[in-house]
Amino acid sequence: MSACLFCKIAAGTIPSKIVYEDEDVLAFHDINPIAPVHFLIIPKRHIDSLAHATADDEALLGKLLALAPRLAAEQGLKNGFKTAINTGRGGGQEVFHLHIHVFGHPG
Ligand code: AMP
Ligand code: ZN
Repeated sequence: MSACLFCKIAAGTIPSKIVYEDEDVLAFHDINPIAPVHFLIIPKRHIDSLAHATADDEALLGKLLALAPRLAAEQGLKNGFKTAINTGRGGGQEVFHLHIHVFGHPG
C-alpha cells in the first residue's frame, strides 16, 4: 500500500467527497477550500508532480485538463473558474501526487 495520501484517496481507503470518478481519474472536494467551490482532479495512477510527467502521460494530462471545464460547470462555476497546478516545493506543492486545483465562485 502506497504511503501517498492521494493514492489512498484514489483507492478509497481514505474518504473524500467525490465530484467525478472513472477508471483513470478522481475528482474530489478540497478539504480546506480557498473558494466556495474548490475541488482537485487527480490521476489515479501516482505521478509525483507535473515535473515528473513524461511523454507517456500526455493523453492522461489532456484528459485531466479537459475534465476541468466540464466538472466546473457541473459544480456551478458557470461564469468561469481558476485552475492551479502547484509543482515542487518552490511551487507551493504540499501533496506530491499530481493534482489540478479548480476553484471559483458559483454564478
Ligand atoms: P498543494 O499545495 O497543491 O499540494 O495542495 C494540496 C491540497 O490538498 C490542499 O489544498 C489541501 O487542502 C488538499 N488536501 C489535503 N488533504 C486532503 C484531503 N484528505 N482531502 C481533500 N483535500 C485535501
Ligand atoms: Zn499518489
